[in-house]
Amino acid sequence: MINLKQIRADFQEIYNHEPRLFQAPGRVNLIGEHTDYNGGFVLPMAIEYATTVAAAPREDRKIRVRSVNLNEEGEIDLDAPEQKLRGSWIDYVEGVARILERQNAKLRGADLLIASDVPTGAGLSSSAALEISVGLALSEISGYTVEKVKLALIGQAAEHEFVGAKVGIMDQFVSAMGKKGHALLIDCRELKAKQVPLDTKDVVIVICNSNVKHELASSEYNTRRAECEKGVEILRKFLPDITQLRDVTIEDFERYKVHLPEIIKKRCRHVVAENARTLAATEALGKSHLKEFGRLMWLSHASLRDDYEVSCKELDLLVSIAADCEGVLGARMTGGGFGGSTVNLVRHENLNNFRKKTSTEYERQTNIKTDIYVSGAAEGAREVFNGEI
Ligand code: ADP
Ligand code: MG
Repeated sequence: MINLKQIRADFQEIYNHEPRLFQAPGRVNLIGEHTDYNGGFVLPMAIEYATTVAAAPREDRKIRVRSVNLNEEGEIDLDAPEQKLRGSWIDYVEGVARILERQNAKLRGADLLIASDVPTGAGLSSSAALEISVGLALSEISGYTVEKVKLALIGQAAEHEFVGAKVGIMDQFVSAMGKKGHALLIDCRELKAKQVPLDTKDVVIVICNSNVKHELASSEYNTRRAECEKGVEILRKFLPDITQLRDVTIEDFERYKVHLPEIIKKRCRHVVAENARTLAATEALGKSHLKEFGRLMWLSHASLRDDYEVSCKELDLLVSIAADCEGVLGARMTGGGFGGSTVNLVRHENLNNFRKKTSTEYERQTNIKTDIYVSGAAEGAREVFNGEI
């Protein structure tokens, strides 16, 4: 947990004035993997790990920024030409500031202190937490309130243009718009989102980081995208109205799959079924049918492993250890694959056993330690007021 009193005190010491505090969370995707770029649905939730930005306006147009995590600082002059793709975390801050300004928000200069307990590179989207918390801080201290959807799009644009990472919209959407006790169903084509109550009376969400990242990830990602496009191209001969796999129903797929080459068929089957699973999982959550939700998580993993082929032996091992633990309703890899984390739905009373068994077994079989994070569904971006500190 971030110590907010400490951040405020550190800010006062460094900058000699009083800050306001803003926060945006990381996220985990519960179900809906590799559906985003096919125009489909994803169902993430904001987690109880967040990035905090202490911020105060300055009289000039400079942004001075310091990261407690990295113990590094930087300076951006909003009246000087833009700088991008430095290859450092300052790119995220500059990107958000510049894109806010392009959207007609004339910003004031700012002193910023950033501290985060979202682990970086674990697939929990510390980058979106950074973009959204900085975007909220810069706009609010300049006297603007930016709509949440817009804030998310600004974060994404910053990451595209200033960091050079062509990310989807899921991370920024849920970091900006998440709601405590809810998952967020996002329609990635329409850019619309719906809050879905997530009843955690009996269960917790547990994230296990495999701590491996296989090199394959980005080249295979591009291959998968191309395979999906190929699938659409072939299926369009029979289904002229489709533009993305999102438009293909399971019935249509079953009817026309004979026309698809074997590999393309498997890729399409994953996407079409995963989309349907994400909608079914949303319905199950709405009715608090957590067992059914868990069942869909297992199926999602099997499909990612066997049809989409983006899992790896470490992720499969974490999921199979989970399957052997009592009180685990569902488990699957989460994120792009070839490493990263799994997400698990675990009954409260079985949590300790799950933790113990997962860390011992995973390390015994791989010689790698897993990091385990437990979270309920948290609130999206917000200002933290003095009474809460
Ligand atoms: P993920 O979003 O999965 O955690 P990314 O590679 O997309 O991984 O983003 C991680 C990067 O975001 C870090 O390398 C760093 O540049 C930046 N970042 C995240 N949190 C912080 C922070 N608290 N301070 C400075 N930079 C951060
Ligand atoms: Mg990221």
